[in-house]
Amino acid sequence: MHIRDILVRNETAISFEFFPPRGGESSRRLSQTVAELSVWEPDFVSVTYGAGGSTRNLTHDLVVNLKRDAGWEPIPHLTCIGHSEEEILVILRRYAEAGISNLLALRGDPPRDRGSREGSFANARELVRVIRDFRGHPAAGGFGVGVAGFPEGHPATPNRLREMDHLKAKVDAGADYICTQLFFDNRDFYDFRERCELAGIGVPIIAGIMPVVSIQQMQRVADLAAGARFPARLLKSLARANGEAAAVEEVGIEYATEQCAELLSQGVSGLHFYTLNQPKPTRRILENLQLRVTTRG
Ligand SMILES: Cc1cc2nc3c(=O)[nH]c(=O)nc-3n(C[C@H](O)[C@H](O)[C@H](O)COP(=O)(O)OP(=O)(O)OC[C@H]3O[C@@H](n4cnc5c(N)ncnc54)[C@H](O)[C@@H]3O)c2cc1C
Repeated sequence: MHIRDILVRNETAISFEFFPPRGGESSRRLSQTVAELSVWEPDFVSVTYGAGGSTRNLTHDLVVNLKRDAGWEPIPHLTCIGHSEEEILVILRRYAEAGISNLLALRGDPPRDRGSREGSFANARELVRVIRDFRGHPAAGGFGVGVAGFPEGHPATPNRLREMDHLKAKVDAGADYICTQLFFDNRDFYDFRERCELAGIGVPIIAGIMPVVSIQQMQRVADLAAGARFPARLLKSLARANGEAAAVEEVGIEYATEQCAELLSQGVSGLHFYTLNQPKPTRRILENLQLRVTTRG
């Protein structure tokens, strides 16, 4: 099913993001996460892709397994940086044959330690166009396509007016919805949503939520999601946890619960949980929200 149809059907869609494990303990943890979160019946789930193709087969296999074993609607992330158009077409054909209906089209980031390999694509808009033009999908309308949005702005384009032009061009190329980068201040999301509206971007916007689960994870996120702001209210609560692991996690869960509750009251189209392949924080947030447990008919 196309995500655009799922989003029309639901007041607020719920989705989970996983990364492909590399065997052993990480595979066991993912299975546990899938089992624990399955009672929440996500409207869809997504699986990350290593830019340049480093998880090409792992992403594909996890996507196919999640569809077959859990019966979920899985969305593979696909980054275009460093890929030729021929390589992308091979990947699209494989997903089409496996009955995958949607993709999240991304540019990806060049690896920090190596120069990026020459590829056919300069940005995600060009990937959206190739996916839209792809004729090898059995379903009418081909693949559904999502793209990334950055409520706090993408660090590569400090000119925020120009950035909205790039986002609009990406949506106009054929994206059905936007999934946002994580954020910790809902005002950034509301402002982004309003700026999209002013720019004539009418597709649904799904809010990306990542609870703080540890101080180390927060520091990694600050690095990876460059530019993410950590509001004083969150930092004060974390300081009161005094570095105690369980207390830090509790603060993260409470904070994200409040964020989600407010977003729901403000009519958000969807909540997308960056699970980090850990069941507890997302499960606890959903329990706190008393959203729904397998009650949909
Ligand atoms: C929901 C979500 C999921 C993600 N999943 C993954 C993943 O699985 N794997 C991974 O490696 N990364 C992932 N990322 C990270 C993402 O790949 C990076 O943040 C990347 O830097 C931006 O990707 P994009 O698709 O937004 O790129 P683009 O839309 O191409 O934008 C990238 C930058 O280029 C600028 N730009 C766009 N078009 C033009 C133009 N015509 N001229 C000049 N500048 C332009 C934009 O303003 C922006 O600054 C994810 C991010 C999000 C928000």
